[in-house]
Amino acid sequence: MHETLGIMPLKCGHCGRELPVMGQLVTFQCPSCFRYWVLDEERLEPLTVYRAIAPGETPPAGDEIVGLPFWIADVDGAALRRRIEEAVAELRNASKAILEANAPRERLELDPLALLDPLSDAARARSRLVAEAASVKRPPAQTEIRHIAARLEELGTFRVFIPAFKSPNTYAYLKVGRLLTRAQPAFSIERSNGAGEPVLCALTAREAAAIMDFIFFATLGESLQSNGDFLERIHLEPARPLRLVELPFRRRSASLVSVIGGFWISGRLVEPAEVPAGGTV
Ligand SMILES: [Zn+2]
Repeated sequence: MHETLGIMPLKCGHCGRELPVMGQLVTFQCPSCFRYWVLDEERLEPLTVYRAIAPGETPPAGDEIVGLPFWIADVDGAALRRRIEEAVAELRNASKAILEANAPRERLELDPLALLDPLSDAARARSRLVAEAASVKRPPAQTEIRHIAARLEELGTFRVFIPAFKSPNTYAYLKVGRLLTRAQPAFSIERSNGAGEPVLCALTAREAAAIMDFIFFATLGESLQSNGDFLERIHLEPARPLRLVELPFRRRSASLVSVIGGFWISGRLVEPAEVPAGGTV
């Protein structure tokens, strides 16, 4: 998508210096004034890059720390909880209405059956009919909903992590995003001072916002994930614009160990940075 722009020199909107271009990355850093820019819909927009700091972080000497970019969406936990509870109530009402609407039809269909066949057949037919009706609009299990509601209440702000690094494996986005979103790790965020480190971001905020629902869905239990009636009623609204945050990872042979949250991922999931080239795309 970003390669179809044709020849267009990318220049820093602050000092006019030509910006180094790296592969399919959508972010650029000016080599002179270190300001960050993001290319979105053929326009260069100023970008603030943040970095995450783990509580009590003291990076041991000799460890190579890699900053991987994530778009972080802050979602109001109370608002999301309300939306989930409303969706469940809607499904419960729909399910009840369908069962009631089916009750007269059920009697009409079953009476002739009962005359011809043994009672066991009628009972089987009845349970099949009820099961079919109930599965049309299926409310999720109350225990799962109570669990999510309690979690959102406790967190206040629920963070969705959308991986923004370039990966040869698109499943990595879902996998890493789900890990962090499920864990909701604690850390503080500070503005990156831009000391000559380009941020390796391959996704615009708009693209990230489009996949945040899917990352949230991936953190849910299996029965909720397979409940289309429920999922189609849930749409996450970020409480503020998404922020681009670099999370620190420690390189350990073939793995990248997250300093925040303590999990590791294969280094192969992250495409290595290319050498900066030209000033055109
Ligand atoms: Zn500049």
